[in-house]
Order: sequence, then C-alpha cells, then structure tokens
Amino acid sequence: MPDLNKRSIVYLPGVGPKKAEILQKEAGIASYEDLLFYFPYKYIDRSRFYTVAEVNSNMPHIQLKGRILSFDTLGEGRSKRLVAHFSDGTGVVDLVWFKGLAFVKDKYTTGREYIVFGKPVEFGYSYNIPHPDIDPVEQAGQVAGGLTPFYNTTERMKKSFLNSRAIQNLQYTLLSGLGWELPETLPQELLKRTKMVSMSDAIRHIHFPESVEKLKSAQLRLKFEELFFIQLNILRTATYRKLKLKGLVFASVGQSFNTFYSRYLPFELTEAQKRVVREIRADMGSGRQMNRLLQGDVGSGKTLVALLAMLLAIDNRYQACMMAPTEILANQHYATIMAFLNGMDIRVALLTGSTKKKERERILPAIAKGEIHIVIGTHALIEETVTFSSLGLAIIDEQHRFGVEQRARLWKKNAQVPHVLVMTATPIPRTLAMTLYGDLDVSVIDELPPGRKPIQTLHRYDNKKAQLYDFLRKEIRLGHQVYVVYPLIEGSEKLDYKDLEEGFALFQEVFPEYTVCMVHGRMKAKEKEAEMQKFVSGEAQILMATTVIEVGVNVPNASVMVIESAERFGLSQLHQLRGRVGRGTEQSYCILVSSYKLSNETRRRLEIMVQTTNGFEIAEADLRLRGHGDMEGTQQSGMGIDLKIADLSADGQILQYARDIAQEILNKDPELSSETYRILNERLKALFSQKINWGLIS
Ligand code: ADP
Ligand code: MG
Repeated sequence: MPDLNKRSIVYLPGVGPKKAEILQKEAGIASYEDLLFYFPYKYIDRSRFYTVAEVNSNMPHIQLKGRILSFDTLGEGRSKRLVAHFSDGTGVVDLVWFKGLAFVKDKYTTGREYIVFGKPVEFGYSYNIPHPDIDPVEQAGQVAGGLTPFYNTTERMKKSFLNSRAIQNLQYTLLSGLGWELPETLPQELLKRTKMVSMSDAIRHIHFPESVEKLKSAQLRLKFEELFFIQLNILRTATYRKLKLKGLVFASVGQSFNTFYSRYLPFELTEAQKRVVREIRADMGSGRQMNRLLQGDVGSGKTLVALLAMLLAIDNRYQACMMAPTEILANQHYATIMAFLNGMDIRVALLTGSTKKKERERILPAIAKGEIHIVIGTHALIEETVTFSSLGLAIIDEQHRFGVEQRARLWKKNAQVPHVLVMTATPIPRTLAMTLYGDLDVSVIDELPPGRKPIQTLHRYDNKKAQLYDFLRKEIRLGHQVYVVYPLIEGSEKLDYKDLEEGFALFQEVFPEYTVCMVHGRMKAKEKEAEMQKFVSGEAQILMATTVIEVGVNVPNASVMVIESAERFGLSQLHQLRGRVGRGTEQSYCILVSSYKLSNETRRRLEIMVQTTNGFEIAEADLRLRGHGDMEGTQQSGMGIDLKIADLSADGQILQYARDIAQEILNKDPELSSETYRILNERLKALFSQKINWGLIS
C-alpha cells in the first residue's frame, strides 16, 4: 500500500496539525496506513436493545432507546454534574456528565429519540449511566451490525478529543473516502488456497464488522498477514544462508573428543545432553553452516555440551571461541573448562577487558598462529586486534545480551564463516522462539543432571521478617550462603537503591557475626568484581544485590535466594533469579517476600512460582498472564517484534501455518522474484524498511 503509507494523517478531514501530532506521538499513527492498521482491541455487541426496567449494575455496556425528559445541574465544585433523566416508557435512568456540561446540554434536546450506550452503575436506589455515547436514532445505521469497535487511547489523546469514538469516526472517514479500494498484499494464488478474505475486506470488517463471522475472517486474515511476513522475513534470511553459505565440514570425531569423553568426563551425560550433542555433530558434519540455539534451563549443563562441540572443532583442526556477556561469567567458564580439560593437551586462553597488556601480547599472536585452541572471553573477543588462524566454531552464551551485529563481527574475522551455537537459559515459549529466533535451529536440554533436589519455593509476607532471619541463620550455620535480591525498576531507581542500602545496613545489624557484601549497578566495575569475589570465595555469607547479579553466576554453595518485593518482578525474572541456587546437591530454597496487599494477578504469579520449577511452564504462564509485549527479553532481542493483532499466546496455530506457507513459498522461489511472488518482496521492503545487508548475515 505505497500511497497510503506515504499519505500523512494530517490530510485526513477532521485531523489537522495538532491532532496529527498527538496521533503520531501517542499512538504511532503517522500515515493513512498506520490508521487503518490501528485495530480495535475489543468489540461490544450493540445488536440488542435493553429496556430501562431491565437495567442493573451487573451489566456490561448496554444500549437503550428512548428520550430525555429533562436536564438538571446538581452539586457544587468538583461534584458538579449534569443529569439527564432518560426514559423509554419502562422506567427512568439518569445519564450523568461530570465534564463538558455546557457542551452536552447544547448538543442534546429533550423529546428527541436517542440511542444511548454506556455502562450502568448503581447510585442510591437508582441507576446512572455516566458519560454515555448518544446518537440520534436516525444515525444508528452507522453502527453497523451492532459490533462497536473500541480503540486504545491515552489520556493525552482523550484531552484532545481523540477518544475511541473519535478514532472510529476517523476510520469511517478514511474508509468511506477510499471507496474500499485497498491494494492487496498477498498473491491471489495464496488467497485462493488459504480461503482468506482480501485485504480490503479484512480492513473494512476489522473496523466495522457486519457480523461476528465477518469479524472472525478479518481477524484471521490480519493475524495471518502479520505473522506470515515476519516468518517470511526470517526464513528468507535462513534460506539464503543455507543456499549460499558453505559450512565447514567437521567430518571426524577425533582424539580430543574421544579421550575426553572416555577418560576425563567426570559423569555420565544426561539423555538430553547426548541428544543435543548428536544434533550439533550432525549439523557440523553436514556441509551447511550451523546456526543453532541451545536452550536449557539454568543448571542443565550447557557448558559441557559447548565444550564437547569445541573439542569436535579442535579434532578437525579448527579453533573455537566462547563469548560470555560479562567478565565474571567469562572467568567462570574459563575456570570450569580448564578444570574439565586438566591433563589434556589443549591450550585455552582467557581474553577480557581486564587481561593485562603483557598477557595480551602473548595471547594475540598465539591465537593468530593457531597455537591456542580455545579462546574464552567477553566482548573483547570481537575487537579488531583479535584475529584467528582458523575459527571453526563460535559459541555465544546468554544470547540476549548480544545483538545480531555483534554476532556478525565474529564471522568477519575469518575467511570462512564458522559454525555458531547460541546458548540461552531464558526459557522461551515455542511461539515466541519461532518469532525471535526463527532463523536458528533449536536444541533443547529439557532434563537436569541427576541428584539435584528441586528448589523449594516459599512465599512469605514482609511483616514476618524475624522468622526469615532465623531461617537464614540456620542455613548459614550449616555452611551455606544466601543471596538477597532487591528489584530495580526503571523510573524508581532512586528509591530502589535506597531500599537496597537500608536493607544492607539492616542485615549487617541483624547478622553481626557474618560478612555481608553488596553489589549494584552504580558501583565501579572493579568494586563490583571485588564484592562479588568475596561471595564466590566464601568469605562473605550473604550477598545483597539489585538484579545485577550476573546472569549465570555459579556459586554451588549458595542455598537460599531471598527475593524482596517479589511482587515487583516478572515471572521469567523470578525464575532466572531462583536459578542462582540449587546448583549443588543440598536442598535449596527460594523465598519470595512480598507485601500482604497483592492484586489477583500478582498473587497468581507468585503461586505459579511456588508450584513449579519448570522454566518452560513458567514462560508459557508468563506469556498468558502478561502478553508477549511485556515478555522480558523481547525488547533486548534486537528484533523488535511489535505485534498489532496476533497474540503469541493464543495464535500458535496460525503462526505455525504462516511459517509453513512461508517456507513452502521460499522453497519454490527463494528470492521471491517470480511474477507470482514479487508482490511479497514489495511488501517485505515496505514492512522491514531497513535494508538487508547480506554481508552481515551469518
Ligand atoms: P548451565 O550453563 O546450563 O546453567 P552448567 O553447564 O553450568 O549449567 O552445569 C551446571 C552444573 O552441573 C555444573 O556444575 C556441571 O558440572 C554439572 N553437570 C553438567 N552436566 C552434568 C551431568 N550430566 N551430570 C552431572 N552433573 C552435570
Ligand atoms: Mg551456563
């Protein structure tokens, strides 16, 4: 829809410069097309009329047909209101306005027949309908089919007379002015095959549905449309990669892998780990470049799988690198891997921002010459100065902190594109994974190593602190360590830091016999590192922190995670935090501390945490409770999905269907250049205007 996309909303009759600015700022509506794609969030059935005698306060929005008998102005000051006594012959109900009294009184007259629409509320012995919508009966035809759309509006929009009703009117103006001639975005072939309605029909019926059936087919078409183009975009990238990029072939399983597996591996792999290793081996031997996402809950043993993959690379005379989001994590990976490989002739180097100059001068040439087999590090790995002799495998831990571009910088270091394994502990529901990482193949470790005791999760109110302290003291006496985490919420950081600092002072008072340390985002890196180290080494028994506690930090001796103001965290975040404990064989605990007053939704969230430790179940629940828009991690994903109509928690089937069809089309016409599919190419260009840089895509 090139024209509609370019035509500014300011030209639409009834808009003008001031409203145009507000529409753009508040609702992102800049063009005619933006307005048409600003969909209602609900519909209310106006197909039936109620009588005044039937009215009660349990009703949702209802409509009545009748006349205003008389007006009254009541009250003083803030409670001043205009009341219209309204009757249909079966009784009287009061229509009430607290704002715009003069305007209302001018607009409506007594004796004329109106259709009144609103929500009745009980008031003393009678009922009121505050701020109703009122239409003269003659104009009722405009309310087609009885399903009235409701649009999201903000306070600022409402102040500028852009309420839901006004948006509906703008849609009406635009659509009637267009004469329904909306350009199609899908090929005819596809429309026929999927039996979907045209774009024109879909847009018309999403705003002005003539019937519930027509609304449903409009919704289906637009949801499909939205998901289809996202999938087409992702899969086009993946298809291109598969067609054009040759993968290094790791044909042999050699000495390092076998030696490690048979003699150095300290335990049996879990079945899930074995399966994932097989999947990785198949990829790396296939001649295609591997792009795999490895999902596994915290503690499921991803590091070991990563190590085995790296050994495969080494056996095929390639180097491997592993990139972590923070220094603490890189250090930990380095220590873990050095311990695993102790005794084997494999050279491993650590490269981070704190690597000393002298050490750098030793490592860098050795990496360039291929004398070092495995490099573990942070962002420092992608600096210009680091060149590999033959990088065959790049592993990225905790994906969400790395952008796609940073990933790409790794491959530029090499003549050939290395295999890529992205590891994440963030459980992502399938539908979201398909949308965010749809270009990656996915492996899942869905099993924890044996012998772990499930973490016990308890919910406690913050007026029972003394018992909590007793419990912590008992655990510390057993030689265990304790995390205490405070929320850090954007916009209230100042108060949050104050909470943490007060908590820290309090804990020092309550536990004078122990060492308490503290970490937060306002500390210098050095300071943070030092405090963290106190806890890792066991010198401190209690670590108090904001949510900065490093993702993935491993202190197996820590057995208790206390989460203060737990009601302020999202489910996925609570789950991530809980994953910091339960890494040893001892019984671990997660204690969610909240205030007593909780909304139903929050109570439900905390209950879910108490009931299950399964990350995927929690992620699904999170998606259901909060909607994908709020899912943690999606903003950082760098792929910015902003769905207007599809709902990942409910539309999984449509998503799968859209994905299958997108793949099928790409199999036939990977470049979308044929007569039939060129239309898709055009639409992709309009939707994802940032140009695809093939050179950057791995
Ligand atoms: P993740 O990175 O997935 O959170 P790790 O790789 O850090 O998990 O593993 C957590 C702990 O479990 C480590 O101490 C690791 O040595 C141990 N581990 C991994 N795999 C197994 C296994 N198959 N059996 C027993 N312990 C294992
Ligand atoms: Mg890990």
